[in-house]
Amino acid sequence: MSSIAIKRKSVALIGNPNTGKSSLFNALCGSSARVGNYPGVTVEQKIGTLLQSAIPTDVIDLPGTYSLAARSADEAVTIDVLCGARSDTPRPDAIVVIVDATNLERNLYLVSQVFELGLPTLMVLNMWDRAESEKHRIDVGQLSERLGISVVCTTASRRAGVEKVRDAIGRLLDAPSGRSDALFPRNEFPKVFLEESEKLQSQLSSRGVSLPLLEVDRMLIDRDGHFERNAAQKFPGILQELSEARQRLEASGVKIPLFETKSRYAWVRRQLDGLVERPPVNSTSLSDRIDRWLTHRWIGLIFFVLLMFLIFQSITALAAWPMEWIESTQGILQNSVEQFIAPGALRSLLVDGIVAGIGSVLIFLPQIAILFLFIAILEDCGYMSRAAFVVDKMMSTVGLSGRSFLPLMSSFACAVPGIMATRTIDNSRDRMVTILIAPLMSCSARLPVYVLMVSAFVPSGIKYLGGWVSLQGIVLFAMHSVGALVAIPIAWALRRYAFPGQPSTFLMELHSYKWPSVYVLYQRVFERVAAFITRAGSLIFCTSIVVWAAGYFPGDHTKLDNAIREMEKIAKGADRSNEGNQEVAGESGDLRSSLEAVQKNINQARSELIDRSFLGMAGRWIEPVVKPLGWDWKIGVATIASFPAREVIIATLGTIYSLGANENEESEGLKEQMRAETWPDGRPVYSLATALSVMVFFALCAQCSATLMTIQRETNSWKWPIFSFVYMTLLAYFGALITYQIASGLGLAAR
Ligand code: GDP
Ligand code: MG
Repeated sequence: MSSIAIKRKSVALIGNPNTGKSSLFNALCGSSARVGNYPGVTVEQKIGTLLQSAIPTDVIDLPGTYSLAARSADEAVTIDVLCGARSDTPRPDAIVVIVDATNLERNLYLVSQVFELGLPTLMVLNMWDRAESEKHRIDVGQLSERLGISVVCTTASRRAGVEKVRDAIGRLLDAPSGRSDALFPRNEFPKVFLEESEKLQSQLSSRGVSLPLLEVDRMLIDRDGHFERNAAQKFPGILQELSEARQRLEASGVKIPLFETKSRYAWVRRQLDGLVERPPVNSTSLSDRIDRWLTHRWIGLIFFVLLMFLIFQSITALAAWPMEWIESTQGILQNSVEQFIAPGALRSLLVDGIVAGIGSVLIFLPQIAILFLFIAILEDCGYMSRAAFVVDKMMSTVGLSGRSFLPLMSSFACAVPGIMATRTIDNSRDRMVTILIAPLMSCSARLPVYVLMVSAFVPSGIKYLGGWVSLQGIVLFAMHSVGALVAIPIAWALRRYAFPGQPSTFLMELHSYKWPSVYVLYQRVFERVAAFITRAGSLIFCTSIVVWAAGYFPGDHTKLDNAIREMEKIAKGADRSNEGNQEVAGESGDLRSSLEAVQKNINQARSELIDRSFLGMAGRWIEPVVKPLGWDWKIGVATIASFPAREVIIATLGTIYSLGANENEESEGLKEQMRAETWPDGRPVYSLATALSVMVFFALCAQCSATLMTIQRETNSWKWPIFSFVYMTLLAYFGALITYQIASGLGLAAR
């Protein structure tokens, strides 16, 4: 039946950033997307299968771009894919260009460039809900007729109109239709330019290289651009000819590259003439009235800081209940393992290694979910772009622009996507500096460390302003700010000495505020939570086992296991006699004293065993280095174990203290175990000063192999990840040292 192989088709999605491309892509392809990188470059490649399509069709989500000028890496890949110049991606059979219906004029600039590719094209007017609520009137039928292509209106975030897009793509692939050259936006260019371009094209073809006019145009317009460099590799002589042609053009009054913008906007305006009616700019709309305050130079900044402060205040309060629930589940799990497995290595591995390790990390899930929910709400309602605008001025004092704000803001979630988001920064020096300071932003993996230390060692009872502001919340907020504050002088120094040059200007449009979409919130939070669980389940699972083994071996555990067995026998006997008669006071007193004796044996055996373990040996070796920070060897070892991923410290501490626990209650929280830790002379190990020093160390250190790998990939060199690692580790050590010394000077080292 299928003797005729059906050729797979492909469709490319293209559009300005933030027009809803990814939303439409997800709606069209469901979960079939494959995400990777274009080989050889750091641009993300995203391909999915068009669902419910008669012809098997791939959908390519191209990077968002304002133009095909091929200046940034994203644009270069985009235009290469569209021209069929990449061997890894076939040339698309059709293009879907996504347009923000509330901003037709600027979006049609890209459309005018897309038209010149000569591929069958479908235009999607997305953000239709916004266009309607903001009362834009667009004569879609007339527009479609003028441009000679189909136009579909959608609200991609709510999946409205997606079926129409699917149908239209089907029709486009079924009967591809060309457009008449009369519509060629290029006709708007000055005549001299057209002549120069055609001359160059024929010169090239006489040398056996035939290029479409579009590419020759770009070669001429984009000085030192992608196409110029490509051509110069084949025959260096082209550079001379290009510069002569440009000189002739300038001499006859054609300003490169300005004329292109002018010509294309003239074309765009002609297409839209009489078809679009925008509401009169109404400066008293609610959104604008809000913005008069929120984007105000100082008030806006104060509001932003207050808002972040409030968020961190409420995280601890909101997460308390689900955290308790996770903690008690962990206890139940450990108890039931103990019911069924006899004392020994296996039981210790399960209870002290795996359940204690993973449980102590999972407990932070509620906080992470809540933080992400807040960030997603702020992003989706439109506040985040205001924040970028407000901090732009501040960023420019250190030589960066508001464009670096979103990558840095997303680094508060995780530096990996944050660093990848710097691809949208077209100034390469700005981009490098942003990449190098992004790991200083306090990512979600640091949150568990802060929360553990804060909840264990910062008194919870201290409240200010009538109970609304807690000391715990203040410390949590301060820890999130430390990295960002330290990043300021570092960015300034890098910009000044390592990457000198003019800062770039930053333009951004602010849509009116809207209610966040529940679906988007759910997706964002779910994604982060799933990523966190995966990490806890893989990396942390493995480290837990390694750390457990290092803390369990090479000691002889027979004495300990026997003591535990004896203890359980006594405890069972006690249970039985309690059931029989609860009033036998003398007997239960005997029981208690023999229980206490066995317990003492167990405690002693445990702490001897962990002292003599591999972990203990390593610990004594590093103790002199970490002692000035106020740390004992256990904190030192746990910190070293967490260099691949910082949140591992929790699991490691969980395992170490569980193995060497000084009390019987193994299911007791990590917090209590830490509070009970003492130096050999009996002083408690942990104090507020120690907790602050640990937190500052974790705030500043580059303990994340994924981040370092990402820096390597994005900068395409080992120099920068090594640089980041060294400077952040030094910063962390000395930061922690200073913190501890100051804090103990203030008397915070005693409890
Ligand atoms: P991309 O940058 O082009 O890939 O855009 P995204 O798909 O990431 O969307 C950017 C933002 O616009 C997200 O917050 C979406 O929820 C939102 N969005 C997408 N489509 C629509 C739409 O049709 N209407 C509205 N109001 N918002 C949308
Ligand atoms: Mg996208």
